[in-house]
Amino acid sequence: MTHNHYESTLAPYAATALTSRGRSMSEPEDPTRSMYARDRDRIVHATAFRRLEYKTQVFVNHEGDLFRTRLTHSMEVAQIARSLARQMRLNEDLIEAIALAHDVGHTPFGHAGQDALNECMRDFGGFEHNLQSLRIVDSLELRYGAFNGLNLSFETREGILKHCARNNAAQLGDVGERFLNGTQPSLEAQITNLADAIAYNNHDIDDGIRSGILTLDGMRQVAFFAQCHDEVRLLYPDLRGRREVLETVRRMINAMVIDLTEQTQANIAQHHIQTIHDVRAAPRLAAFSPQMHATMQALKKYLMEHLYRQYQVMRTSAKATRMLKKLFDAFMDEPRLLPPDYQINGDPTAQARQVADYIAGMTDRYAIKEYARIFSVEHF
Ligand code: MG
Repeated sequence: MTHNHYESTLAPYAATALTSRGRSMSEPEDPTRSMYARDRDRIVHATAFRRLEYKTQVFVNHEGDLFRTRLTHSMEVAQIARSLARQMRLNEDLIEAIALAHDVGHTPFGHAGQDALNECMRDFGGFEHNLQSLRIVDSLELRYGAFNGLNLSFETREGILKHCARNNAAQLGDVGERFLNGTQPSLEAQITNLADAIAYNNHDIDDGIRSGILTLDGMRQVAFFAQCHDEVRLLYPDLRGRREVLETVRRMINAMVIDLTEQTQANIAQHHIQTIHDVRAAPRLAAFSPQMHATMQALKKYLMEHLYRQYQVMRTSAKATRMLKKLFDAFMDEPRLLPPDYQINGDPTAQARQVADYIAGMTDRYAIKEYARIFSVEHF
């Protein structure tokens, strides 16, 4: 099956090479792969992608070998998003490219790292991991002779840029436009965004219970969890432990995927969507039903209170925050501590961006080592 044939089997409003806004630098077509399949392959081979293996999702990498990392999170997002794409006849190659790339701009130590770096960059334009993901694929990955970055298609890039402040959007050209004129990205981008939420809400329950911070009884305070858990109890009255948790989470993911598919297809029908141009001009089409939306909110709120803000997690976050801030200050005070590629003769704003790029690119363990190299008296 040629890639042209694959794309002709998709829904009329799916993103395809035919309706694409193309790459920044035009390139000859690949004889065997569609444009979006090629984007996905470029992402998989990128250095920033490999680093995701050693970057924190919620639990720091060395806390245990079985917790999600940014890499396995991204793969779970891709799996869920691909299933959704298959159901809705959207472009699976594009969905996979967006999903695998969506977190490549994440700092070490998860959200604590992102917040710390954003604070350090307050006077220099701030730091946002979404924008950083785009910056990586647009310019920081250096692998090709003809261009900096990966020269990805417009649709993959717009999908990576999930959200963006207006002042930043104004400087981004084509991918920034929709944040200024209120239009929407492709359905593939919209779906990947929600697949991300399905993935982390569910795998964080699994990891949270595995760590002992969350309990099964506690989780039952979330009505939807209790409902899925009751089903498991009824079907397997003797099941306990990990399998009981996993059977419950499995049901939750499944229900969310079905709900999202049905609601989105109803929205597509209601707005008489025929083409990708209709998708862009319509209100946001990919959505959960109002009930499932409320469930997602309740789940998020519960995880915020009982997992992300629990003292065990907070201690690691606080330590990570202090570490990154001290690294940032040390590099700003003395840029000659930076590897030569990151030293520039520029104004403080340009230098700060170099420091942020350097720190954001670090894996958790690299940041810990670098901190020791710079601050520890045992490392002279
Ligand atoms: Mg994510």
